[in-house]
Amino acid sequence: IEAVPQTGSTNADLLARLPAGELSGPVLRIAEVQTAGRGRAGRPWLSAAGASLTFSLAWPFKGPLHRLAGLPLAVGVALAETVTSLDVPVQLKWPNDLMKDGAKLAGILVETGTAPDGTPWAVIGCGMNLTMPDEMEAAIGRAVSSAPWLARMDRNELVALLLSRLAAVLAEFDDTGFAPFRDRWNALQAWRGQPVNILDNGSVVQQGLAAGVDDAGRLLLDTPAGRVAVLSGDVSLRLA
Ligand code: ATP
Repeated sequence: IEAVPQTGSTNADLLARLPAGELSGPVLRIAEVQTAGRGRAGRPWLSAAGASLTFSLAWPFKGPLHRLAGLPLAVGVALAETVTSLDVPVQLKWPNDLMKDGAKLAGILVETGTAPDGTPWAVIGCGMNLTMPDEMEAAIGRAVSSAPWLARMDRNELVALLLSRLAAVLAEFDDTGFAPFRDRWNALQAWRGQPVNILDNGSVVQQGLAAGVDDAGRLLLDTPAGRVAVLSGDVSLRLA
């Protein structure tokens, strides 16, 4: 476990050590502040000292790299179940966000790579809003949520609880893939049964009623033409 006062991005730090074979076992890297935190497709993830929990976990897997496709969803299950068990009920917005009161509480960014010995690795980043300073909310420019109740907890205890459930989920995922997590994910799904839009580069590419995910972690949409499955790629989900 590495705790640093400040860095650009904990995901970037760990990923940079992968090709040189500098990771020999799981590493958790926590930063008090990230100055260049990122979400999917290089979108910014903002955090502020004392207000945010930002960490990344580098984890080796047995299975081939392509088996990791459903990993962000399994990670969401681990984090959402932990936070909910701490009396902060959250839901999962496909593919990778924890939602509280209809707005984003935490984001997950999973990036993968291969070590020189051929082992597939995932670097699993999480940014969670404990409190939300006004200037940060203004900079994000959209509805966000925070969990002041978690902010009052001992930070080490909170990280330990998140990490222990996450580690258990990762070990199981490595053996089984996403399928056994499907029902746990669906039980936490945000916007279930509601009309949603799938956006690609800002344009609506699919519409339907949100109907959970399948064994591979694809989002199922009920449309007038029947049920379709959407691969996550870089599409975004919005309420219609
Ligand atoms: P979207 O939220 O647009 O569906 P996404 O889920 O893929 O896309 P990410 O790429 O995971 O989003 O996260 C980046 C986005 O999250 C940014 O574009 C910004 O709108 C938002 N964001 C950035 N920082 C925070 C934060 N601290 N809390 C909540 N949302 C944030």
